[in-house]
Amino acid sequence: MHFSDNVAALTPSATLAITARAKKMRAEGRSIIDLSAGEPSFPTPEVAAEGAAAAVRAGRTGYPPTPGVPELREGIVRYLGETSSYAPDDPAGVLVSAGVKQGLFNLCFCLFGEGDEVLIPAPFWTSYLAVVELARARPVVVQTKFDEGFALSVDRLEAQRTENTKGLFLNSPSNPSGVVMDLGILEDICAWAGEHGIWILSDEIYRRLYFDGDSAPSVFDVKDRPGHVVALDGMSKAFSMPGWRIGWSVGPPELIRKASALQSQTTSAAAGPSQYAAAAALASEGRESIVGEFRRILDRRRQAAHAALQGIPGFDAPLPPGAIYMYGRLGSGDRAPGDSAAVAESLLVETGVATVPGEAFGTPGFLRLNFSVEDEIFAEGSDRIRAWFGST
Ligand code: PMP
Ligand code: GLU
Repeated sequence: MHFSDNVAALTPSATLAITARAKKMRAEGRSIIDLSAGEPSFPTPEVAAEGAAAAVRAGRTGYPPTPGVPELREGIVRYLGETSSYAPDDPAGVLVSAGVKQGLFNLCFCLFGEGDEVLIPAPFWTSYLAVVELARARPVVVQTKFDEGFALSVDRLEAQRTENTKGLFLNSPSNPSGVVMDLGILEDICAWAGEHGIWILSDEIYRRLYFDGDSAPSVFDVKDRPGHVVALDGMSKAFSMPGWRIGWSVGPPELIRKASALQSQTTSAAAGPSQYAAAAALASEGRESIVGEFRRILDRRRQAAHAALQGIPGFDAPLPPGAIYMYGRLGSGDRAPGDSAAVAESLLVETGVATVPGEAFGTPGFLRLNFSVEDEIFAEGSDRIRAWFGST
C-alpha cells in the first residue's frame, strides 16, 4: 500500500509494540514476565474513580471545552503552585490533552517544521523522534555517557546547535535512565536556550517519582527562565492512571491557544470523565499521601530490583534516582556490548522475560526493565535473567 510522506517513515512505538507482543505470547500460553511497559501497577486512586463516576452520574458527559474543563485546568495551576515554583494563577497557559503524548505532538506540530532541528538528549524516550519527524523537522540526537551518569551539559548541546536549532527536549527524571537533572544544570540550560531562542519542551511526567525528595526539580523552579519554555506532566505515572489518558502542557498562553486550536481540529478534548477523575485527584486532601505512598512502595521495589540485579556478569544496572526503570548496560566483563535488540529478543523467546532494548532509546547496548511491577514478578524476572546471563 502506498502511504503519504507524512507517515512513510513511521513505525509503531517500540515500547508499546514489545508490550503487545508479550501480551500475545501470554495469551498463547507462554509464561511471560513483562518488564517492558512503563506503567506502574497500582490501581486508580479511589478519589479519582469517584470523581469520574460522580460526573457521569450527574450527566456531565457532553463535549468538554477543548483546552480542558475549568475544574481541571484550575486544579493543575494550583497543583503546580503547590509542588513547584510555578507562579501564574491563570489557567490560560494550560492545555489538557489525551496524555502527555498528545501534548508533545501538539507542541511539535505547532512549533517545528521543515528545515528545523530539535535537540534530543540520548538516552531518550522512544516517541520523541517520531513526533519531531511527524512535524517534518529533524531530530538531532545529543549523546551522553553512561560513565558520566548520562549527565547533560550546555557544552554537549552547544556542540550540536546550528542556526536551524529550534527546540530541545528535556526529560527529568529520564525514561529510560531514571537520571535527574539538578536545578543548577536546568538553570544553565535555560540560560543557554534563552540566549539562542530555542524552545524547551520539558517532559516532567516522572517529576514526582523521585526518590531523594518529593519532586525532582522542574523548569518552573528556574527563576530566570526564558518565555519559550513548556512543561508537560500528567496522570499516567505519579497517579498510576495511564489508561485514563490525561496529560497537560503548561506554557505561554499564545502557544497554548494555538495548540488548543490544533487539538480542536483533531481530537476536540481529552475524555470528559477522565478529566473529572484527574480534577478530583489533584484537588483531594489526600493527594500528597497518595503520591507519597506510591513513591514509598516504588522506592522499596527500586532497591529490591537493584539488589536482585547485582553481580550478573555482563549486566551493569545502577540505582536510578527517579522514574520506574532499571537501565542496565550490557557488556561489562567479556560480553561484547552492542546488539541489545538481539539480547532482548533472546530473553523474550528463551526465558519469557520482556524488556526493552536500548536501541529504542538511542543507546544500543542497554536493556530497560520496569521495576514498578509486583515484587514477585520482578524477582522471578531477575532470576530468569540471571540464569540466562549465566548460561550464555
Ligand atoms: N513521556 C515519557 C517520558 C513517558 O515515559 C511516557 C510514557 N508513558 C509519556 C511521555 C507518555 O505519557 P502519557 O501516558 O501521558 O501519554
Ligand atoms: N511510556 C511508557 C514506556 O516507555 C509506556 C509506553 C508508551 O507510551 O510508549 O514504556
